Amino acid sequence: MHKCIECGGTEAEWSCFQANLGSASDGRLRMHDVHTIFVLSCTECYKDIRKMTGDDVAQQMTKEYNDLRRKKD
Ligand SMILES: [Zn+2]
Repeated sequence: MHKCIECGGTEAEWSCFQANLGSASDGRLRMHDVHTIFVLSCTECYKDIRKMTGDDVAQQMTKEYNDLRRKKD
């Protein structure tokens, strides 16, 4: 089981938010500057354990979907 390196907690949760990864300041953002970020963090101390972009998550889900389909065939 995964343990948090900060507090030793074993519970974690994914959350999702939008972040500005471009160089434009807030208020001058265009849609392509804004990216979805998924963060897995400890539920005890909120330390970030893992970060993935929306693209990373989509790739991971595609892989899992195709792996699952291959198993069924
Ligand atoms: Zn923790």
